[in-house]
Amino acid sequence: MQKPRSALAERMENARPDVLIVGAGMAGSALACALRDSGLEVLLLDRRTTPLDTARGDHLQPATLELLSAWGVLPRLLAAGAEQRPGTRWFDAQGQLVLESRVDGLELKFPHFLFLNHERIADVLLQTALESPGTRLLPPCRDWNLLKRESAAGIEVSYPGGEHQIILPRVLVGADGTGSRLRSQAGIGTALHRYQHPIAVLFGRRRIPLEQAWLEVYLSHGPMVSVIPRVGGASKIGLPIKAGELSDWRGATEGELLVRMRELVPSLELESLRFAAIYPPVRVAVEHWIAGNVVLLGDACHAMHPARSMGMNACLRTADGLARRLQGLPSAAACGEVAAALQDFESGERPRLEIELEANHRAGEEMDLISGEAYEPLLARLQGVAGVAQAREALALQSAGYSPGKPG
Ligand SMILES: Cc1cc2nc3c(=O)[nH]c(=O)nc-3n(C[C@H](O)[C@H](O)[C@H](O)COP(=O)(O)OP(=O)(O)OC[C@H]3O[C@@H](n4cnc5c(N)ncnc54)[C@H](O)[C@@H]3O)c2cc1C
Repeated sequence: MQKPRSALAERMENARPDVLIVGAGMAGSALACALRDSGLEVLLLDRRTTPLDTARGDHLQPATLELLSAWGVLPRLLAAGAEQRPGTRWFDAQGQLVLESRVDGLELKFPHFLFLNHERIADVLLQTALESPGTRLLPPCRDWNLLKRESAAGIEVSYPGGEHQIILPRVLVGADGTGSRLRSQAGIGTALHRYQHPIAVLFGRRRIPLEQAWLEVYLSHGPMVSVIPRVGGASKIGLPIKAGELSDWRGATEGELLVRMRELVPSLELESLRFAAIYPPVRVAVEHWIAGNVVLLGDACHAMHPARSMGMNACLRTADGLARRLQGLPSAAACGEVAAALQDFESGERPRLEIELEANHRAGEEMDLISGEAYEPLLARLQGVAGVAQAREALALQSAGYSPGKPG
C-alpha cells in the first residue's frame, strides 16, 4: 500500500529554479534582495533555525548605502532603527586624539555610515527579498549533497522529517560562509591563513554617552582596542587576545572585565561590560569564484580578518555585481550563457576586491601584533595622515568604500 505523503513532502517537490542560493545569511539574503525585481525564480536554502550572530558586521559604508538605496531597502533599515556615524577616531596610548577621519565633509550621496545589529540588517534584506513572488525560503534543511551533472550541478537536500528534494538550478550560489561546504564539494581549491590571535568581542555601555556615534580605535602598548557603536547607545568592543587567555575572558565577572579594560584603555569609561564571543580570524583565498554553474559569494568566497570592518560590505557589493549579471540572463539561458555571465562576474569584480583583501590582510596582521610592536609605526603613520588634508580625504574615501578620488 502506498504511504500517505506528509505535508512537508508535498512542499518538497523537485525544483528547477533559475537560482538556488545555499546560505541565507548576509550574502545570500543580499543577493535575493538584489534580484527581487528580476523576474527570476530564486530559492534560498539554509540549515539555520536561530537568528544570525549579532556580534558580526553591523556598519554599512556610504558606498554600500548607495546599493541599498537602489535596492529600495534604505528606508526599511532606518525604520528598523539604523543610526548614523560620521567616521572613525584613533587615540594614542595616553588617550589623546591622533586622527579623526570623517566622511560627512565629503561630497557623497550618503555622507555617513549607518549601523544596525547584524541580524537585523540581514533580516530586512531577506524579508524584502521574500516579497517577490518568485523568491522562496525553503524550510531549514538537515543536510544536502552536490549532484554533479554533465550540464549543470544541483543538490539533493534532506530535511529533518526525512523528506528529500532534488534541486537543479541554472545557477547554484554558495553563500554558506567561511567553511563553505558547497565550495569544497564543487572542488574549488582554497588557501587558508589563520591569524595568530583570536578576537574577543564584548558588549558594554559608556558611562557618559558620546554626543555623536564615532567608531573609536585605541592604540596601546598591548592590543589595539576598537569601540564600535551599536544602536541605542551601546558599544561593541573588539580586541585580539592571547589564545591561552580565552577562558579567563570568557569566565571573568563584569567587575573583572571592567578592571581589565580600564588597564588596557584608561581613558575609556564604561559603566557595564559583558563578554559576547570569540572569533578565530581567518583569511580564505579561493582559486576560482566559479566552477561550472556554481558561484561563490560572501565569506565562502573571501572570508577576511575583521580589522577594517569590510566583510559584510564586500558581501553586499559582490551580491550587487552578481545580481546585475544574472538579471541580464535571457530566460531559459543555455549553459554557455550562464557560464559567460558568471565569468564576467568574476573578472569584473575580483581585481578590485583582491586589492582590498591585500590591504585588509596587512591591517589584520598589524592588529595581530598584540605586544606593542605595531604601536610606534602605526602611530607615526596615523600622525602622518592627520597632518595632510589630502591624505585625510583619501583615507575617508577609502573607509567609505570608494576608490581614492572616485566617489560615486
Ligand atoms: C567579530 C566580527 C566583526 C565583524 N565586523 C564587521 C564589520 O564591522 N563590517 C563588515 O562589513 N563586516 C564585518 N564582519 C564580517 C561579516 O560579518 C561577514 O563578512 C559576513 O557576515 C559574511 O556573511 P555571509 O553571508 O557570507 O556568511 P555567514 O554570515 O556565515 O552566513 C552563512 C549562512 O550559510 C548558512 N550555512 C552554512 N553552512 C551551511 C550548510 N552546509 N547548509 C546550509 N546552510 C549553511 C549559515 O547558517 C548562514 O546562515 C565581522 C565579522 C566578525 C567575525
